Amino acid sequence: MTTKAVYLDNHATTPVDPRVLEAMLPYFSQTFGNAASRSHGFGWEAEQAVERAREQIARLVNAKSKDIVFGSGATEADNLAVKGVVEFYREKGNHVITAVTEHKAVLDTCRALERKGVATVTYLPVDRYGMVDPDAVRRAITDKTVLISIMYANNEVGTINPIAEIGKIAREKSVLFHTDATQGVGRLPVDVEAMHIDLLSMSAHKIYGPKGVGALYVRSKNPRVRLAAIIDGGGHERGMRSGTLNVPGIVGFGKACELCRESMADEGQRVLRLRERLKDLIFTQLDEVYLNGHPVHRLPANLNVSFAYVEGESLLMGLNGSVHPIAASASLPPIAVSSGSACTSATLEPSYVLKALGVGDDLAHTSIRFGIGRFNTDEEIDYVAERVVAEVRRLRELSPLYEMAKEGIDLKSVAWQRE
Ligand SMILES: *Cc1c(COP(=O)(O)O)cnc(C)c1O
Repeated sequence: MTTKAVYLDNHATTPVDPRVLEAMLPYFSQTFGNAASRSHGFGWEAEQAVERAREQIARLVNAKSKDIVFGSGATEADNLAVKGVVEFYREKGNHVITAVTEHKAVLDTCRALERKGVATVTYLPVDRYGMVDPDAVRRAITDKTVLISIMYANNEVGTINPIAEIGKIAREKSVLFHTDATQGVGRLPVDVEAMHIDLLSMSAHKIYGPKGVGALYVRSKNPRVRLAAIIDGGGHERGMRSGTLNVPGIVGFGKACELCRESMADEGQRVLRLRERLKDLIFTQLDEVYLNGHPVHRLPANLNVSFAYVEGESLLMGLNGSVHPIAASASLPPIAVSSGSACTSATLEPSYVLKALGVGDDLAHTSIRFGIGRFNTDEEIDYVAERVVAEVRRLRELSPLYEMAKEGIDLKSVAWQRE
């Protein structure tokens, strides 16, 4: 049986692959030069390592290595793409098209530009599976549109957007196309040429690399994309992102990309098999469970499920061992997953992504996101399924609503009495 904690939150972050760590280690204290030092070997060696990583990363998305701009992660890359394009092209227009299910790194950046009065933003809706309609993108384009920013795969429900189609429309209309591909890169094929992508955000820590390093792909030809920098300084990264490069982080990021490129097909199959196993075990043993996101066009490692009549937070705490006395006393290995409610201040807000899919507040509050990764095993999946089924049954036994529903009482017809 599983004796260690089970980590099933791989959309939030992933552990550093031991091969990545090994590649990084010499760059902390042996080959520690500043990649911008041009006057000695310490600098040249660091620069060489950075350029090798740039090539490893570029190859994963079929880009030219000089089009990779390093930064601190996907949040920064999203900021640079959206703010950088809006500022640089302000003579041309000020309209941005994005979608309601984007990561906060894109949404909050758009909101900030709206507040400053420098951009107007169209937030496209999604269908009930979380997908953006390419025709809706086409219809939203005006002669003031300077950027379309649509994510590749969603980090909560795993839905994969028709990026190639959207890219084709953007190219036809001569509008720049940015995609936050943080969840897609390394897991799904990405080709910036075939998909007509002009800007693409990625992050090392979502693909078994270190935290605090990421990149923005910025197309330099057909068309050449221009950006206003958001961090000024020494003019590193072709003037688009100043600051001394995080050499060990970048080396790790490069190695992580190389490993993903080599194993993507096999790993995709493997995590898909684990995901389907988890899904089958849950759906055959429990009633009133609902899949969130697209049944087919979704990340192979993502499972997002609503367990009706069970508060997601209670289920989550039962699984992670933080409050559940039975789990604690039996010293069951804890399970790390995340729920569709974000703990904001004192209130539990249901996820804006699930809301956008039309999932009602009730079901949104009962959702759990399982994110399977490279290091999960069959044994862990079986253990998680067993614990989830047991916890849901236990919590439902405590739920008068579940009792009533089982007795065939239509809950909508019940006249609730206020205390
Ligand atoms: C994790 C994530 C981000 C943020 O990436 P950081 O590197 O942690 O800043 C942005 N977008 C998506 C889709 C993500 O999953």
